[in-house]
Amino acid sequence: MRMYEIIRKKRDGYALSETEIAYVMGKYLSGEIPDHQVSALLMAIFLKGMTDTETESLTRQMRSSGLVMDLSDIPNPRIDKHSTGGVGDKTSIVLAPLVAAAGITVPMIAGRSLGHTGGTVDKLESVPGFRTDLSVHEFNETLRRIGVSIIGQTGEIAPADKKLYTLRDVTATIDSAPLIASSIMSKKLAEGIQGLVLDVKVGSGAFMKTVNEARKLAETMVHIGDSVGVKTVAVLTEMEEPLGKTIGNSLEIKECIAALRGKWSDDISKVTLTLGAWMIHLATLVSDFTFFYSGEVYTDFIGYQDGLRELITTGAAFKKFVEMIDAQHGDPEVAFQPFRMASAKITKQILSEKEGYIQRMDAEMAGSSAMLLGAGREKTEDSIDHSAGIILNRKTGDYVMKGEQIALFHYNREEHIKEAEEVFLSGITIGPEKVKKRDPVLEVISEIAHESK
Ligand code: URA
Repeated sequence: MRMYEIIRKKRDGYALSETEIAYVMGKYLSGEIPDHQVSALLMAIFLKGMTDTETESLTRQMRSSGLVMDLSDIPNPRIDKHSTGGVGDKTSIVLAPLVAAAGITVPMIAGRSLGHTGGTVDKLESVPGFRTDLSVHEFNETLRRIGVSIIGQTGEIAPADKKLYTLRDVTATIDSAPLIASSIMSKKLAEGIQGLVLDVKVGSGAFMKTVNEARKLAETMVHIGDSVGVKTVAVLTEMEEPLGKTIGNSLEIKECIAALRGKWSDDISKVTLTLGAWMIHLATLVSDFTFFYSGEVYTDFIGYQDGLRELITTGAAFKKFVEMIDAQHGDPEVAFQPFRMASAKITKQILSEKEGYIQRMDAEMAGSSAMLLGAGREKTEDSIDHSAGIILNRKTGDYVMKGEQIALFHYNREEHIKEAEEVFLSGITIGPEKVKKRDPVLEVISEIAHESK
């Protein structure tokens, strides 16, 4: 077998066999195939796509390039959730302890911020001391003890993905549906889970800009999950405007703490409760799990959401969050006194340039603006300012007067402020009519959906 022939085959639009994909992955990891040839293959995949069978093979090969965890001795159902990434997307930080408080084990391996999209791992690292680099042994122990742990990608899990992602990052091949699907699923399917709920973001702030693109990606990932025996559901959710009221790491943690105390915006509660209800549903499908709390047995989607709300109002989800911080060496007092996290030295009000309804608050522009303030990174190796970010005091649909505050920038470095303000304001449209917003939850993609309604 020759790498040259494999590149040519893909360049000419033919499907690669599992043997060919295994050959590339094996030889690339061992250093026998150089970066320039794999770059050429990635570009050919980007341009010609992959069949579902090829994407499944690629995922399997990437998953088995590293450790596949075995958590089968944990008695509780093991269900995870993954988001394809968006602006202000802090759902995992609320959802993981919430669902763990319901009795589900959540082994979550999450990502870092890149470009305009934020990452769960960076957000959690705003909590002083919080370690997202637990060893697999510590991760296992934490899951057994408290039922939830969120860590970053370790070198042991899907190392082929790590190597490929670095190459994709510099060869303009990130936003390819088969490459995104295999990258995400190779890591998730190594977690030793029984069920997976995917939050596929759609809109300007997401990889997938249209519902059609998102649906295709979702179908591919659901198919991959189901094909290896992990029950998988995808929920398409709105990312035309940022989620919630904050963008930026410590600001988002503060918003999560408020949410876990029952003070959450409609979009966050809708997305979190929908994903949570699906996680509970999957738990009932893969085990004899019953969602039982405060003397009530919850048996359907409405009930699951009611039960999850109960876990918020009684403080059980908040308590689990505190346990998780403590278990991962963070300062648990942050949950009670969020000001213990670093805060930015400078704030600047961003004012409305005219009166009217906010008709659009572009998520990508808002995310890029937050990145310019220091909240994100352009390249994986860039550092991040945990205290920088944006508080959104107004959102799409709100009426504003000329000169009224729309947002408050938090930052420590002056150099990109003008550009950040221009980028943010270029994403805002204000007009005389109130526009109808899309629902935060757009669609569910599942091969088991019909069993559940
Ligand atoms: N997240 C991943 O883990 N991989 C991708 O390719 C895109 C988003």
